[in-house]
Amino acid sequence: MGSARFGAADAGLASAQPFSLGGGPRFAALPITVARIVVKRDRLVCDVRVTPGFSQEVTPRLAAAVRTRFPQIEGHACVNEVGDTFGAVMDRASLPHLLEHLVIQLQAEAWERASPSNPLASPGAFVGVTEWVDREEGIARIQLGYRDDMVALAGLRDAVAFVNESL
Ligand SMILES: [Zn+2]
Repeated sequence: MGSARFGAADAGLASAQPFSLGGGPRFAALPITVARIVVKRDRLVCDVRVTPGFSQEVTPRLAAAVRTRFPQIEGHACVNEVGDTFGAVMDRASLPHLLEHLVIQLQAEAWERASPSNPLASPGAFVGVTEWVDREEGIARIQLGYRDDMVALAGLRDAVAFVNESL
């Protein structure tokens, strides 16, 4: 019964990794997995992994799916080398950078559904930063501002699913 002593610690880890590979290696072939999420007072810190062997950048198929489902995303404000919107770099953005903007968009849409006149019902109300931690291993850190952590976590889950289905 030695393992029972670690039950509480395991549960704590599980709550910090809601989208980990809980099902085991049969899911290991998903292009994107979330390795770790830390909910801070003002932001989520999400470590995601692009599985080696998959494109680390937006593919033409994925870009087309984004333009169909999330046409607003190209107009998001974005600090990048080319322009001042995400549209300036979307076709060659990293997958984690795309995820950042998808979660921002999904948060704005969630607030819009809840109360259309709320100032939070706009992508401009949310900030995000993405950086590679280890590009060779495909590990990136996405930091996302939120006003409701559950809305942001649901957005992250949906954004990851969307990319995994559309890549
Ligand atoms: Zn950006």
